[in-house]
Amino acid sequence: MGEARPNTPMFEFAIRDADTNYHTDPEELDRVWGRYDLPVSLAVVPKHGPTRSPAVPEDYWYDRDPDERFPLADNEALVEYLRDGVEADRYSVLQHGYDHVRTPAGPEFARHGDLQERLVDGREHLESTLDVDVDVFVPPDGALSSAGSRALERERMRTLHYLTLRGRTRSPAVVRTFAADALFKYRHRTGGRLTFLQDLYRLWAIGDRSVGLASRPEPYRVDGGWEFTAVSLVESAGLARVKRQLRLADALEGKFCLALHYHDFRSERFREQFEELLRYARTELDPKFVHCEALFRG
Ligand SMILES: [Zn+2]
Repeated sequence: MGEARPNTPMFEFAIRDADTNYHTDPEELDRVWGRYDLPVSLAVVPKHGPTRSPAVPEDYWYDRDPDERFPLADNEALVEYLRDGVEADRYSVLQHGYDHVRTPAGPEFARHGDLQERLVDGREHLESTLDVDVDVFVPPDGALSSAGSRALERERMRTLHYLTLRGRTRSPAVVRTFAADALFKYRHRTGGRLTFLQDLYRLWAIGDRSVGLASRPEPYRVDGGWEFTAVSLVESAGLARVKRQLRLADALEGKFCLALHYHDFRSERFREQFEELLRYARTELDPKFVHCEALFRG
């Protein structure tokens, strides 16, 4: 971890790695993170269901009992690896949905219905299996209904996601937050007004996460709950917009969360981009690497 340089702004840098679940090979996780001395927050799926995902072998995508679930606890090698990682403070654990199953009705937490039960059962499974406290939630596919928000608020869980409106119920609170965010984005825009409006429209209309607009580098409230906006590292989108957000978090002495998946590292190009970003942050800026839970501390 970098030593703080005196008289330069310092910011908190967290990494969120999503999709670890029953099917994850601990050796793959270790190949990704074993070579860095970094805290990493794993967003873990408690009981994955049969669904198409890079984190699930193809044999488990379709043609199975749709009600079949694969509890994390049943992969003993993974559980042991995660417990050791938590013990060593290399990993912290966030909750990533309950089963991560997409249906024709949409991603898991974009629906309504039994979300509170899913939240409580999934959290309990992670906490008892891994012997950790879990109070940060990452919605699968970045989609959250108002029923999902209410369930999170009732369970006093903090939400880490992307502030786009795709898959999100446009409640007055969400629209107000989008407006406050738009003002921040406008103040910190890098292009002209027309480009800004075009980007904002893309964000509003199609929830395009590759849009290069700034995000607030601090937690904010939506209704009664706390949220933080993460920035995705997307191989095809390049690094410019991520670096811009890093510079902003550094200049404002704020916080930054990089969202990625361990399975992204199957691409060598992705690893190169990740390492270039780390090098950039460490040599040009002053990051303090933290777990995602720290993003919500004042
Ligand atoms: Zn996911």
